[in-house]
Amino acid sequence: MAKKGRVFSGARPTGRQHLGNYLGAMLNYVALQEDYDCIYCIVDVHALTTLETTLDLRQNTYEMALDWLAVGIRPEESIVFVQSHVPQVMELHTYLSMVTPLGKLTDLPTFKEKAREQPHNVNYGLVGYPVLMTADIVLYKADLVPVGVDQAPHLEFARETVRSFNHRYNTQVLIEPQMKVTQVPKVIGIDGQQKMSKSLNNHIELAATPEETRQRVMQMVTDPQRIRRSDPGNPDVCNVFSMHKIFSSPEQVEMVNTECRRAGIGCVDCKKLFAENLNHHLQPFRQRREEISQNPDFVWDVLKDGAKRASQIAEATMVEVRQAIGLP
Ligand code: SF4
Repeated sequence: MAKKGRVFSGARPTGRQHLGNYLGAMLNYVALQEDYDCIYCIVDVHALTTLETTLDLRQNTYEMALDWLAVGIRPEESIVFVQSHVPQVMELHTYLSMVTPLGKLTDLPTFKEKAREQPHNVNYGLVGYPVLMTADIVLYKADLVPVGVDQAPHLEFARETVRSFNHRYNTQVLIEPQMKVTQVPKVIGIDGQQKMSKSLNNHIELAATPEETRQRVMQMVTDPQRIRRSDPGNPDVCNVFSMHKIFSSPEQVEMVNTECRRAGIGCVDCKKLFAENLNHHLQPFRQRREEISQNPDFVWDVLKDGAKRASQIAEATMVEVRQAIGLP
């Protein structure tokens, strides 16, 4: 069946993926394959703008690719590759940077935020990050980029950069990508406070063992007003209940919703039930991951093949770009 267009999405090599990655991106990646030609890129060059050390970069790239394959990204259909394996993106980044006013980059809220987070390392690459991101997308002539609402300004930046380039060189060679806004659930970490993230160590790894998963779930912060087992709770403010709504059956959700409010179920039992359902849900993923990991070469071969296919698209675009600019 003919696909509706080409999707591009990139993610930094953060190693083993967690529940937040799973609900926020990975499931969507898998679903998009039904209707679109998908290009999924592990953006290792972007990671260099913030990484203090690259010691884990290779292993993190491998682990992430392994999780993507185990979750159901089909490499025979979709292109899965590593950003630095297709160096044309660096070239396009340079050309796009010539049509990007510096002030526009330093005004972006994400740049200001990063500069606050790492004042000792406000590097040139960090400022130009959105330009490289634009190059990632337009190099592959992607029609659509799946984004959460909070990332919309980045895509708008990419669209403006394409217009600037096309206007400057009087060409139509680059395509303005469209946003495919996805309803990304905000997955709160086990601390009950902040977005789930590996760096905050408030995450639940997909590839964890059932026992490790249970331990993490038991650490989850619940309704802070429910001090004693006999206190009625409020599931509406409890992260465990939010997770039940995703991973438990409608009957179980209803039971927790009712019993929590009248102290009919304790938080320990409620968490045990969630952990059990989560482990059950992740079992096929974990089994597939285990199977693939028996042959690490398979993962690297997928990435190599992906880079080869991505390079063909990239070079075709660059031929047009160089010509449009008038490079001798
Ligand atoms: Fe949360 Fe469940 Fe405890 Fe209610 S019983 S506060 S939903 S963990």
